[in-house]
Amino acid sequence: VRCDGIVQIYKARDVEVVALRDVDLVINEGETVALLGPSGAGKSTLLWLLAGLLRPSAGRLWLDGIDMGRLDQRRLDRLRASRIGMVLQNPARNLIGYLNAAQNVAFAQRAVKRDRRRARELLRLVGLDGAGDRPAGRMSGGEQQRLALAVALANRPRLLLADEPTSQLDEESGTRVVELIKRAAAAEGTTAVVVTHDTAVSAALSRTVTIRDGRVGAEGRRGEDFVVV
Ligand code: ADP
Ligand code: ADP
Repeated sequence: VRCDGIVQIYKARDVEVVALRDVDLVINEGETVALLGPSGAGKSTLLWLLAGLLRPSAGRLWLDGIDMGRLDQRRLDRLRASRIGMVLQNPARNLIGYLNAAQNVAFAQRAVKRDRRRARELLRLVGLDGAGDRPAGRMSGGEQQRLALAVALANRPRLLLADEPTSQLDEESGTRVVELIKRAAAAEGTTAVVVTHDTAVSAALSRTVTIRDGRVGAEGRRGEDFVVV
């Protein structure tokens, strides 16, 4: 993944909010990045851009050598379905409420060759192999969060994006989720970008990138114009 001079400006009526200012970032295949920063720093915006859910106001985004900004909507949708997995902050939004756990994973696999073995294995790894026929809409927040990760990994994505994926999990489930992300990175070269406030999560991932006020700092950028306070 590569971001070159990414700027994101939201326009709400006559007010403009600059959410990202000239973000340059290179994330290598198989890296697992914890994206940190205070509320309003631009973390979710960066995740949405990487997911192809937003188009940047300026700058370029590359995934596997593909310039995402050059793709028409149909190709971008196909890229998202086949190469990108996302866990939204509200995990219920990743799921179809009236489908059970296995059906949700199967639905995610519609864009690629269906892999029942992988679907079963993912459900086992997130501890939902016993979830049975309960619809996702009736599951607890923690179960939905774990199922959302299984759905996001269903297609062996090149890029996994997760917004606070452990916020509703106890320590043990949180550890399992992190292990699964690291396993996908190690075994399949999945690159992961995880927004988290959980220091146990960021410590377990391979790299930390900090955003403040729309700028990427610390290890995220080579530049000398950045001072970490
Ligand atoms: P974080 O995820 O780090 O909390 P966000 O990416 O959600 O930060 O927000 C970055 C900035 O952009 C904030 O000032 C926020 O208020 C603003 N923002 C986010 N989404 C929108 C939107 N849809 N319309 C207008 N402003 C937005
Ligand atoms: P193979 O991929 O050849 O089946 P692996 O040892 O890589 O062999 O995987 C064994 C099982 O674990 C498979 O069902 C596979 O789908 C599943 N698996 C492998 N890696 C992951 C992962 N990162 N997340 C979830 N399931 C995985």
